[in-house]
Formats: sequence, C-alpha cells, structure tokens
Amino acid sequence: MRKPLIAANWKMYKTPAEATAFIGAFLPLVANQQKTEIVLCPSMTSLAVSLEATKGTQVHIGAQTMDWHDNGAYTGETSPVMLTAIGVTHVLIGHSERRQYFNETDETVNLKLKAALAHQLTPIVCVGELQAERESGRTNEVLQRQLTVGLKDIDAATATPLVIAYEPVWAIGTGLTATPEIADEAHRFIRAQLAEILSPAIAASTRILYGGSVKPDNAASLCCLEDIDGALVGGASLDPNSFAQIIANAS
Ligand code: PGA
Repeated sequence: MRKPLIAANWKMYKTPAEATAFIGAFLPLVANQQKTEIVLCPSMTSLAVSLEATKGTQVHIGAQTMDWHDNGAYTGETSPVMLTAIGVTHVLIGHSERRQYFNETDETVNLKLKAALAHQLTPIVCVGELQAERESGRTNEVLQRQLTVGLKDIDAATATPLVIAYEPVWAIGTGLTATPEIADEAHRFIRAQLAEILSPAIAASTRILYGGSVKPDNAASLCCLEDIDGALVGGASLDPNSFAQIIANAS
C-alpha cells in the first residue's frame, strides 16, 4: 500500500548541462519502472532544465531546500510558491547538511514542513542521529525530538503526502551504511512516533526512506525490509547507471 520512493540528492553538483545529460542517459534505463516513485533533486539552477527534460515522464523533480515564506525580503531564498510555479513537486526539508552548515533547526523544519503541505509540495523530512549520539545511546531520544518538534501542530488530515528520510549522519557520504538491523530498528521507532504524533493511520501510510551511503550493492538488503519504503541517495545518484541500478535492485 506504500508506493516505494527513491530520490536522488545531487547536493551542490551538476550544472544545467550536466543535469540534462544525466536525464538523457537515465530515462531509458528506468522506462519500465512504474512501481517506484522516482525523484531527482538538482540544485536550484538546474531545476528548470530538469523539469523540461523529464516532461511527460514518470520522473519527478524536487528541490533540496526552500524558505517557508511565500515571498518577501529574504535575499537568496526560494519560496514554495516559486517552486510550484515551475512544476517542482517534492522538497527535501532539514537535510543534515542544512542543519550542520546553514543553521536549520527542528523549529525551521516545522515551519518549512507546514509551508510545503500548504502548497501541495511532497515534503521529505530528514532526521537522524550523529555518531556521538548513537554511541551514547541517545538515538531514539534524538529522533523523538526531531519528530516531535518538526511535526508540531501538523494536522493529521493534511499530513498524507509526508515522507520521512532516516539518515544517520555518520552514514552520509562516509561509505558506512547502517546495517539492515540498525535501519530497521530506527524505522520502526520512527513509525511508532508518527502514530503517536499524527495518527496510527497516517503512520501506516507514511513512507520512511533510508539514506546514508546507499549503493547498488546494498540497496536490495535495505529496501526489502518491511518498514523501509525506499531510499534517499547522495553520491551514488550522480551517475545515471548507478542510480538506475539502485532503483532496479530495490524494486
Ligand atoms: P550519501 O548521501 O548517499 O552520499 O551518503 C545521502 C544524503 O545525504 O542524502
């Protein structure tokens, strides 16, 4: 009942020409993939060409971040109104790199999540513990705080598009992947939290993605678990063959 979702987070890589070349090579590789929702998240300057190159296909385009205001004197920011106006359908919220380098907090995650839902964008809210937090046995406490504050005052009736990405920070870009057991335990905990914060029905229908060094050779073992509904892929999504292989192996 939960459609798997696999998203590419290109971070600060790929010019518009490189994004167009990726999509040209990628589309034929996933032409028969109807079971999985596929999302590419290019940088802001490659959104328009990516939308153009994927027009009429099943591949969706997401932004890597956004501001929560509709418009205003916020130099450098991009609003949900601007994203939906060009056809963007998804948005990453609270990625750990945004939290680490750009001062994003659970409170700003909450503001952005409300803005995304109000503008019919599918939010992919990223949560996950630091290495030190895991080592000191605080993983569940951190996840609980990120979810309780991040999802504060979200009306369960409007929360259906919500997607959560569990990305243990120690596994991002490090080549260290959470074992299926670690990921499975965290995903179950997150789903139980969603049941408490939103409702059991929303928890059952919300997709929870795993992220952190997902590669073609580990995609199958992670994505086959009951509570893992797809993946958020960084480094291995930059190459069309590797990203298409992840989608094939996870399906
Ligand atoms: P990675 O990045 O796949 O390169 O570890 C994942 C992410 O940051 O979303």
